[in-house]
Amino acid sequence: VRIISTRFSSSFQVARNHDKIQNPGTTKFYVNNEFVESKTSKWIDVHDPATNNLVTRVPQSTPEELTAAVDAAEKAFKTFKNTTILSRQQIAFNYVRLIREHWDELASLITLEQGKTFADAKGDVLRGLQVAETATAVTTQLTGELLEVSRDMETKTYREPLGVIGAICPFNFPAMIPLWSIPLVIATGNTLVLKPSERDPGATMLLADLARQAGAPPGVINIVHGQAPTVDFILDEPRIKAISFVGSSKAGKYIYTRGTANGKRVQANLAAKNHAVVSPDANKNHTINSIVGAAFGAAGQRCMALSALVTVGETKEWLNDIAEGAKKLKVSGGFVEGTDVGPVITPESKARIEDIISSAEKEGATILLDGRNYTPEGFPNGNFVGPTIITNVKPGMRCYDEEIFGPVLVVTHVETLDDAIDLVNSNPYGNGAAIFTNSGATGYKFQKEIEAGQIGINVPIPVPLPMFSFTGNKGSFLGDLNFYGKAGLHFLTQPKTITAHWRHEDAVAIKASVDMPT
Ligand code: NAD
Repeated sequence: VRIISTRFSSSFQVARNHDKIQNPGTTKFYVNNEFVESKTSKWIDVHDPATNNLVTRVPQSTPEELTAAVDAAEKAFKTFKNTTILSRQQIAFNYVRLIREHWDELASLITLEQGKTFADAKGDVLRGLQVAETATAVTTQLTGELLEVSRDMETKTYREPLGVIGAICPFNFPAMIPLWSIPLVIATGNTLVLKPSERDPGATMLLADLARQAGAPPGVINIVHGQAPTVDFILDEPRIKAISFVGSSKAGKYIYTRGTANGKRVQANLAAKNHAVVSPDANKNHTINSIVGAAFGAAGQRCMALSALVTVGETKEWLNDIAEGAKKLKVSGGFVEGTDVGPVITPESKARIEDIISSAEKEGATILLDGRNYTPEGFPNGNFVGPTIITNVKPGMRCYDEEIFGPVLVVTHVETLDDAIDLVNSNPYGNGAAIFTNSGATGYKFQKEIEAGQIGINVPIPVPLPMFSFTGNKGSFLGDLNFYGKAGLHFLTQPKTITAHWRHEDAVAIKASVDMPT
């Protein structure tokens, strides 16, 4: 039985209504601004992670449907690339307004299919909305360069759209990550074939419809579905010029290798193991609250979750307070008011997380707080794992080496800041790292010496606002140009350089010059 608070029931109802209008039992294929029933014979069931009730069935798009999406995107590009940047900016303004108007509906779809709490789902939408807001500034961000290189001669550079862009998205941010592509593709004059995660496509379907309402012409935004066959199609289809991938390292390495071998631009944000280093001079209360929130929020299913804690010196004495903070978190369905930690995405994911916790015990670590076998009241069939803290962890243990992607914090102890920096830098991932300290010198040393691409100083999840880019590095990123910000606009465009010479005297020259000018 689902428990729905009165506060969220209306938005939940909207989500159900949307489901009935757009998806009476099935999720549609979206092409030329229309929802179309797939002709596939292969369907993927999507379950509510809190109850495991069936929510919708997602098609494995057929080869004909995949081709139709690229046909539509290729045709739309021919005219869309020639629209004025001012008209595309207006679409971005409309899109921002529409996302705000449909914020609760989008969040409800996320909670329903992905499981995260409604409040956290609203944050998922907001972080994507902020990317859409930067798209409205495209007129000032996409300016080119001009130099008068000699008398009567100018060289100028401007950026042109690439064509059809492919995007392949993960399950954990069903609105934010599609919004890393949709508004920027529109603003730059490209067209898009996007594959949402087959586990929670609902928010993407509404975002596509909102793009239509905002003024995106038919064929500019197209949504296809499925698993590996759809990804392979995107990788091999020559008319798709660039691919934006976010997801696991295994899938990402494959996509980067095959996509680039096919001559495409690929940007791939991958897995992570983000460390928080606690210096003895840190503000204890702020540190504990930050770590508890960033380790267990979204049930640990954030690529920037703080999943590895490094206690330095006497801060190992703070672990009991961290455990007390974690115990206060309410684990329940995402629509239940007051829930802090929702379910994980699938029963298989729950089993994998619990297996990793058990492996830590066998390998000699200590389970300080055990969230295995937790069933919240009213949700006997959900995929719940309670907050878990594992101490005495060492590199080489499975719980340290693998990205757990669940509400599990692993703790390693060192005696000095230098040891902590060495530990963080020896990890193959480089998405983010945070330090908690009240010393400017300690913070600065950490900032300079840590190799991870996004550093927090007393900030647990240091994802920059989207006027900057998402700058994970090492094993957490493959490619050259990061998502959104200036780099994101450069990923979606290519420079064209024009050199023009307008000297009338040349018209009277009587002999051609064959030498390079010196
Ligand atoms: P995933 O790799 O399983 O799936 C991502 C996408 O790739 C999906 O659309 C899926 O259909 C497709 N896919 C999966 N396996 C494939 C295969 N073998 N061949 C071709 N395509 C395949 O990832 P997920 O479980 O949906 O998302 C969680 C992962 O994403 C975590 O590792 C997390 O760290 C990472 N992530 C990274 C960032 C970042 O910015 N660095 C952001 C969000 C999530």
